[in-house]
Amino acid sequence: MTPVAHLKNISLSYHSEHGETQAIKDISFDIYDGEFLSIVGPSGCGKSTLLSIISGLSKPSSGTVEILKNLKSAYMLQKDHLFEWRTVFSNACLGLELQNKLNSQTKKKVHELLEKYGLGEFSDKRPSELSGGMRQRAALIRTLASQANILLLDEPFSALDYQTRLTVSDEISQIIRREKKTAVLVTHDISEAISVSDRVLVFSKRPAILKAEFKIDFFSNGKNGLSAREEPEFKNYFNKIWKELDK
Ligand code: ADP
Ligand code: MG
Repeated sequence: MTPVAHLKNISLSYHSEHGETQAIKDISFDIYDGEFLSIVGPSGCGKSTLLSIISGLSKPSSGTVEILKNLKSAYMLQKDHLFEWRTVFSNACLGLELQNKLNSQTKKKVHELLEKYGLGEFSDKRPSELSGGMRQRAALIRTLASQANILLLDEPFSALDYQTRLTVSDEISQIIRREKKTAVLVTHDISEAISVSDRVLVFSKRPAILKAEFKIDFFSNGKNGLSAREEPEFKNYFNKIWKELDK
């Protein structure tokens, strides 16, 4: 696989009137083209900080992020940030609109994406008329339409109830794979990470250091997130990651 970014010896400390907080300590890894990478670590360990470094919104205190491809990142967050005063279609167009790229061709693309992922007949509805899962799908389509090639997912499923989370995380990860995007998901949910990823990085508590890396084979073997959870190997991955987090 081809790397799209090298992160080398990244550290970041926040400075405030209460002193210095080191969030991330000497983290190095590569991101590969088209992979679904997850980062698991305890709450407050520095996961969101790392995503903002990857996006270029934050600069590390030391270390380098080398981008090897024309990367355009877009975030997907816990809150879907759909506007109730806009229709589903017009919400899905928002990214393009902000970039001044909304035209008949890109609008057509948005319609196609809504159609392809089961929201065609909801185009003219308001977000409140959608289920939680459909809202996340609409938010994803807005992200995909904005022509980003690397998606940064910051605990996007954590507001959903458990049952919904299982299906929505599976659905969203399948769409991302089908659209051949690179994804970096941060989560504190070990099962979620295993069920959607090609690779899982385990971070320690703050300051985050990279403790371990696991390659997950379910997807290269044709499984999806839900069927992966049924595999005996799933539990092995879970236990190994759990142990690393607990050390
Ligand atoms: P996570 O996403 O893993 O929960 P964060 O990256 O949000 O963790 O935060 C890591 C640590 O850095 C936390 O202790 C948090 O309080 C601190 N932190 C995050 N953002 C800031 C900031 N803007 N200023 C000061 N401290 C911050
Ligand atoms: Mg966070």
